[in-house]
Amino acid sequence: MKITAIDTFLMQVGVPPVDGGGSAAETKSTYGFGGSRNWLFVRISTDEGIYGVGECSGWPRVIETAVRDLANVLVGQDPGNIDLLWNVMHTAFMGHGMVGTVGGGAMAGIEMALWDIKGKALGQPVWQLLGGRFRDRIRVYGHAKNTARADELRALGYTGIKVSFDGRVDLDLVYGMRDHVGSGVDLMVDAHGAPWMTTQDAILAGRELEAADLLFYEDPVAPENLDAFARVRDAVDVPLAAGERVGNIWGMLPYIERDLVDVIQPDTGRAGGITQMRKMAAMAESHFITVAPHSGSLGPVAEYAALHVMATIPNALMLERLEFDWPGRDEVVTPNLRVVDGHIAVPDSPGLGVDIVVDEILRYPSRVNVRSAPADNGTAYEIGTRAEYPYFQTRRNRAATLRRL
Ligand SMILES: [Mg+2]
Repeated sequence: MKITAIDTFLMQVGVPPVDGGGSAAETKSTYGFGGSRNWLFVRISTDEGIYGVGECSGWPRVIETAVRDLANVLVGQDPGNIDLLWNVMHTAFMGHGMVGTVGGGAMAGIEMALWDIKGKALGQPVWQLLGGRFRDRIRVYGHAKNTARADELRALGYTGIKVSFDGRVDLDLVYGMRDHVGSGVDLMVDAHGAPWMTTQDAILAGRELEAADLLFYEDPVAPENLDAFARVRDAVDVPLAAGERVGNIWGMLPYIERDLVDVIQPDTGRAGGITQMRKMAAMAESHFITVAPHSGSLGPVAEYAALHVMATIPNALMLERLEFDWPGRDEVVTPNLRVVDGHIAVPDSPGLGVDIVVDEILRYPSRVNVRSAPADNGTAYEIGTRAEYPYFQTRRNRAATLRRL
């Protein structure tokens, strides 16, 4: 079998389709994001008529170019030699400053599609080819900004809920949620490695969170700042999580070998591929660290890939899921995943078990992929500070961002 073509399908998420319906403002108010997200799907065709699909995340509009470049070293190759082709791609990036998020995203989507091809060719689901499965359904967790949304998740059987520190340390939200959902629900806090929190802030907040019985405290400081992460680790008695930004095993390694976290969170669309994620999981296993893949901006194809990975590793914790995301999620792939009893069933069809619906994807052409910078109209961390480095903004505004601490 030979690879004959690699096609990309880039789409805008959460904006009205070109043929009308809804508005961007409506999308934002309903689904909580302003239409700056893109999904990038990859389809790899072969000379035997079998094709595979994958998904890339990180910076999709840029990754699309990377995928097209990588096609130059992949077309004509045997798609079955997945690890070899991964190394070919990795080596091809060497002259361009190695991989980073864009490279990790490109390689992840391509490698995912190669596994899809192999599974279809052999008539087996990907999890079967990875060594068989530990479980036939994957527990998922959702996001809630308030108790009403938590109730909606609970109605679907969710037993894991994450809240965010969006612009300030909100202990009322955390403890209000804990009181509301009770002790039978796992609760997480994501601080997003926010620049408005100093390391000291993250420690102070972490100590205040100790009584909330969190499953984890995610990215309490910028995750690139490993020494700051270590300071939080030493000072706070709350399990920590990180890893959503890394593009390969070397990006994840320091969190594991330095025991900086209890949970790693590789993003299935930019962690370098299914095999990279399984290697990360094995590295984590050796330190008794669990795996909860990230899904912050991911579309539905990568979610399928995450299910296959999580089925096959012993230390799978939970899968992040954007349950109330955007109705278009269900239109652009088939079949659709459903949460039952707080879990998603592991697909049994050959390959990944999902296909893209190209006609639907084409209804949502990509327009933009970066958020505008915080404006100085009140959305900067402090009015009048737009031009300043965010750390200094927060220092001038500590009372508001760290109230109650
Ligand atoms: Mg996060």
